[in-house]
Parts: sequence; structure tokens; C-alpha cells
Amino acid sequence: MTSELAVTLQKGRGRSKPKEWQKGVVAEIIVETPETNTLRISLPDPSEFLPGQYYNIRIPMEGRPRPIQRAYSIGSSPKPNFSLIDVGIREMPGGLVSPVLVRGVAPGDELEVRGPYGNFTWTEEMGGPVLLIGAGSGVVPLMSMIRYQAAVGTNHPMHLLYSSKSHEYVIYRDDLTSLEAEHDWLLVSHTYTRDPHDSRARYHRRIDKEMVAEVARESGAKLAYICGPPDMVEDAERTLVDLGLEPEAVRTEKYD
Ligand SMILES: Cc1cc2nc3c(=O)[nH]c(=O)nc-3n(C[C@H](O)[C@H](O)[C@H](O)COP(=O)(O)OP(=O)(O)OC[C@H]3O[C@@H](n4cnc5c(N)ncnc54)[C@H](O)[C@@H]3O)c2cc1C
Repeated sequence: MTSELAVTLQKGRGRSKPKEWQKGVVAEIIVETPETNTLRISLPDPSEFLPGQYYNIRIPMEGRPRPIQRAYSIGSSPKPNFSLIDVGIREMPGGLVSPVLVRGVAPGDELEVRGPYGNFTWTEEMGGPVLLIGAGSGVVPLMSMIRYQAAVGTNHPMHLLYSSKSHEYVIYRDDLTSLEAEHDWLLVSHTYTRDPHDSRARYHRRIDKEMVAEVARESGAKLAYICGPPDMVEDAERTLVDLGLEPEAVRTEKYD
């Protein structure tokens, strides 16, 4: 099936003008975990985006001549509404921008944003089965792909392997549980790295070669998306290519 959205974006790509900074308004804040908030941002000049893309956010900082910018993936689906975007931000202790976005922003505040950007994208015409591998906030763009498929109503098998510290730190916990209950095409395998006993997780260690190989074989994946810390992403990518996936079929996004 051809995605109208993908075609529209493809047509626009060659002649797209440089993106401008715009002032989004924080419409809502959703507390996801003790360290991660979703900021729901209303855009005055929205662009259609593809599931998996990101926006840059910049904030002024005392003592700095220019605002400081960071990239944040979109966790919401572009359908039915791409003028509201959800970004999921995990506070990095000692970081410049993420602590301000998690602790220092309130509904009604304006934030300067620019986007969308990125090629780490999935749409239904790319097919499946799809293996999604995420650690921590690396689940954010993968969630956009899952929510998108739920919104457009296709049913390519998706298996999400998702690493969190413990149940309390699972971003989108309730949403993932209900999406998995509603859709036969979705399977979620959690791994908890700091809770060796919780039976809600299938694994209780960091994502490793054996785990990736096991879920890849089970899911019969033809396509894979891996997002999170660079070491995890590179190791998982190598494992999947060693298992026989085409390198072009393994897409990665590293949160440096
Ligand atoms: C395409 C893309 C998409 C992304 N999407 C998301 C997302 O959806 N959600 C999300 O939470 N993040 C995402 N990120 C990561 C995000 O862009 C930021 O890198 C992250 O929020 C940290 O930014 P910061 O300004 O808070 O920390 P920084 O100031 O960049 O610092 C990062 C870490 O390094 C440490 N550090 C800084 N300076 C030093 C130093 N001199 N010596 C030792 N340690 C130091 C800090 O203590 C901190 O722990 C994404 C990144 C990319 C590239």
C-alpha cells in the first residue's frame, strides 16, 4: 500500500525550504517515569512528519551567547493530528538542557522548536515483520511507529524489545499494555536491568547478543529499528547483520 503521507513528503523533499524555528506552546505535561516527562507541544506552523523523526528544541541559557539546542524524538503518531507533537524527555543528571525541560517547564510555556528531521522512519509500505529495539528514552521514536500503525489500521507484526531499569521506569507503560492487548500484531518483551525478580519482564539484564538473537528469530524480522545509547545500538546492529538481515534493513538512531 502506498502511504499518502510518505508520498507527500517525498514530493516536497526536493524543493523544501530550510526549516524555521517556531514557538510551540506546551499544551500538556505527562509524567511518564521518575525521570521522564512527555511534553505535548502545540505547533503554530506544523509539518507532516514520519513516525521516527525528531525535532530540535533550543533554550536560552544564562552565561551563554546563544541558545543551546538538543534533538528530541517524537513519540506521537502523525495521524490523525500532526500539529500536536509529544516529545519524551529523560532527565540526564548534570545535563544542560534535559533537566530544564523535565523540571523547569509548565503548561502554557513557549518553547522554540524546529523540525521535523531524520531518516529513522517506518511507514506501512515498508512492511514487516518489524523488530523494534529500544533502551530507556530510545523507545520514543519506536512508540511513534507503533502508534502510527495503530492509527492507520495496518497489521504488520511488530515485536518491541525494550530495556528499562525497572517497571517504574518503563516509559509509556500503560499505553504499551493496552496497545498490546488491543492489537494482535504487537508483542512487547521487557527487560529490567535493575530488578532481577519482576515477572512482568521477560529478561532481567542489559540487552545482549543472545537476547537480540532470540527475539529476532522468534519475530522472523525482515526490518529492524534500534534506538538508544551508541554501544547498545552498535552491538544489536552487528548481531542482526550477523544473523543474516540485510544491513539496509537494520536502521539505527544513536542518542549520543
Ligand atoms: C536524533 C536524536 C534524538 C534524540 N531523542 C531523544 C529523546 O526522544 N529523548 C531523550 O531524552 N533524549 C533524546 N536524545 C538525546 C538528547 O538530544 C540529549 O542528548 C540529552 O537530552 C542530553 O542533553 P543535555 O543537554 O541534558 O545533556 P548534556 O549537557 O549534553 O550532557 C549529557 C551528559 O554528559 C554529561 N557531561 C556533560 N559535560 C560533561 C563533561 N565535561 N564531563 C563529563 N560529563 C559531562 C552530563 O552530566 C550528562 O549526563 C536524542 C538525541 C538524538 C541525536
